[in-house]
Amino acid sequence: MAEAGVDVLLLSVGPDLPWLIGYEAMPLERLTMLVVPAAGEATLVVPRLEAPRVVERPGVFTLDPFGETDDPVARVAGLVGPGAGATVAVGDRTWARFVVDLQHELPGARWQRASTVTGPLRAVKDEHEVAALRRAGAAADRVTAALQQGDVALVGRTEAEVSAELGARLLAEGHHRVNFAIVAAGENAASPHHEPGPRVIRSGEVVLCDFGGTMLTEGGAGYCSDITRCVVTGEPGSEVADAYAALHHAQQAAVAAARVGTTCEAVDAVARGLLTEAGYGPRFIHRTGHGIGVEEHEDPYVVAGNAEPLVAGHAFSIEPGIYTPGRWGLRLEDIVVAAEAGPDALNHADHALVVVEA
Ligand code: ZN
Ligand code: ZN
Ligand code: ZN
Repeated sequence: MAEAGVDVLLLSVGPDLPWLIGYEAMPLERLTMLVVPAAGEATLVVPRLEAPRVVERPGVFTLDPFGETDDPVARVAGLVGPGAGATVAVGDRTWARFVVDLQHELPGARWQRASTVTGPLRAVKDEHEVAALRRAGAAADRVTAALQQGDVALVGRTEAEVSAELGARLLAEGHHRVNFAIVAAGENAASPHHEPGPRVIRSGEVVLCDFGGTMLTEGGAGYCSDITRCVVTGEPGSEVADAYAALHHAQQAAVAAARVGTTCEAVDAVARGLLTEAGYGPRFIHRTGHGIGVEEHEDPYVVAGNAEPLVAGHAFSIEPGIYTPGRWGLRLEDIVVAAEAGPDALNHADHALVVVEA
């Protein structure tokens, strides 16, 4: 905070709060806010009825529960102090209603996003966080293995049904929350963030599955999984098989390139360069990857223009894709941690385009 010139950090809903203290604020009209001064004690202003949910952390923060007729915004403003000239960094996901009210209470303060402080810190995982991501990745791998073995029936079911089953399997494998389970059949796979729906899966087509959830740790914060594999319900034609071979090659090369000291944009360029060389460049319509941690998408972003070099502890996805509108789409995604010894891939599920006769 001192380096960023921030006097007070205000954290409410969103991932910063659980990352820091293990408590996730309820996204409701009653304000929950952790007030962290650059020097001095942190205080969690919390609705009295929600205080029993908080695991207290003596020496980390004190609790300030408020009643139904109290004004929590005034309490937070009181903890910030006179505010004149103070630089206040407020959590990026804080509801506008509270930010607007706080700005009225603290007219002299300067405002900035909390991510200027928390983003770079959250991006670099310590060994416990890497272990948590590895556990979540292994659980996602087990669900993927079931899919690739044909344990998840596909043909004749809707995308939505298969999505629900993948989600249930993530929970059964230890996740406490499913964040998304994209199942996109045939032409729907050409839309990278397709919403699974009533489309019935047929034989002889690509089914793109991209799913992930959050797995709790003892500290209370949850860490995310995120994996994409494509399966085909019958032998693929040469067009899809050739595209997949190029995609597989590009994805593995980008994983291998994700070394400490290499810039994020250089890693993106590896995948993009190979797909362009193979003639698929214009059909790779998104960045190569995103950081992952307590949030599914966070710093660092593996994208052109991000000249940030990877450091040990950066965790991110490598997920190039090839999309042919109206017909099919392919994507291959693993989570990788940059480590001094080289790229540490957290997903080991079969990278092939597996034929599932189910
Ligand atoms: Zn995505
Ligand atoms: Zn994904
Ligand atoms: Zn992803």
